[in-house]
Amino acid sequence: MKESIALLSELIQNKCVNPPGNEIKSIQSIQRFLQEHDIECQVFESAPNRGNLVARIPGTKNGPKLMFGPAHVDVVPVENPDEWEVDPFSGTVKDGFVWGRGALDMLYIVVTQVQAFIQLQKENFQPKGDLILLIVSDEEAGGRYGAEWMLENHPEQIKTDYLVTEAGGLSIAPGKLVFMIGEKGGAWKRISFKGTPGHGSMPFDSDNAAHKAAQAIIKLRDYCDSKIPLTTEYLNYLAKGLELGFIQRIMLINKRLLPFTLNNLKKRDLQMAKVVHGLTRMTLSPNIVQGGTKVNVIPATAYIDVDIRTLPGQDDEYVVTHLKKALGVLAKEATIEALSAEEGGFTSYGNASPASSEFVSAMEKAVQQELPDSTLVPFIMPAVSDCRFFRERGVEAYGFSLFDPETPMSHLASLAHGTDERISIKTIELSQKVYYNLAKFFLIQ
Ligand SMILES: [Zn+2]
Repeated sequence: MKESIALLSELIQNKCVNPPGNEIKSIQSIQRFLQEHDIECQVFESAPNRGNLVARIPGTKNGPKLMFGPAHVDVVPVENPDEWEVDPFSGTVKDGFVWGRGALDMLYIVVTQVQAFIQLQKENFQPKGDLILLIVSDEEAGGRYGAEWMLENHPEQIKTDYLVTEAGGLSIAPGKLVFMIGEKGGAWKRISFKGTPGHGSMPFDSDNAAHKAAQAIIKLRDYCDSKIPLTTEYLNYLAKGLELGFIQRIMLINKRLLPFTLNNLKKRDLQMAKVVHGLTRMTLSPNIVQGGTKVNVIPATAYIDVDIRTLPGQDDEYVVTHLKKALGVLAKEATIEALSAEEGGFTSYGNASPASSEFVSAMEKAVQQELPDSTLVPFIMPAVSDCRFFRERGVEAYGFSLFDPETPMSHLASLAHGTDERISIKTIELSQKVYYNLAKFFLIQ
């Protein structure tokens, strides 16, 4: 365990903040670490100071391949270092935790996947299909120099059937652990309106673009909360996984009762209500509103930038159709376009792997080896990860690790990218074990 903690601290100290990333530092740390254990690996440089690492235990037969990763070594910036209990790039070990930016997202997985790989190699593990280790750069800024670059430039190196990466393994109820089968997409749009400029001193019957934008904002909120089509598939997984009683289950998965359920839930657990709301629909959140140039001029233009999150299966046509429905008669006057990259725009669609399969059973078995009586509950991540590139190519990809069962679910939400990010040593121990168990169960069965 000492070795894992030391490597984790080193990766935190390497401070691979993206942008600019400079991940080659951590890639070299891992390369050196593997070499110390007599393991060969290959480093692929995607840009100056940026790179990705691949190691492999070849399969003895043509069995299914499993990948540990893509595990990213880049981290997000720290906004308020003074608010931290420790220096965020110190990798301090204190109170049973390793502290620092990236500890949770996702350097503990990098370390535990590397260690499980080393342990298997040392035991002369002979899998039927390849076991691949992939460590990447640039996940936090979209993967162009990391996972996506590897798939485009060295696809043969990382060809796999299954993979496990961030983020999963937190307990949602006693003995119930979530694992990520998919993620929502982000399809950010700009909705613009035109008006007729005029003097602000005489607004009677004016054609004010801001009026239209204001109406549109209210319409988007109402549509998202009460009119947009609902999907209860993902709540159904949750209800089943949590073994809810009949009434509770109906309350959760009956579309007509859902508004009532959400209303009740928000009084008890607002965070959970937000999750349930997001799991049932494409969400629309108008987050930037701009219009006008001068206080005494009626604005000729106004626009709204809308953060739109799609569920698996909801494509661009779906997004635009429902934006138009939401806007109603205003749609005729609206121009809807994807938010440009210069404006921070980014589009990826929701995606998911099967909620149950032979591989999912193997993951559950790997967990039960450490925490008997635990079961897995399928979940959709609200955020985007590198998994999308692999799911697009038919790989079954899951967010899977194993947290100390004492860790509350809210921990992940508040600490990932947040202040005092840290990971418990118990979680490092458990995650290392489940990755090891999973490879053993799945690749030699
Ligand atoms: Zn991450």
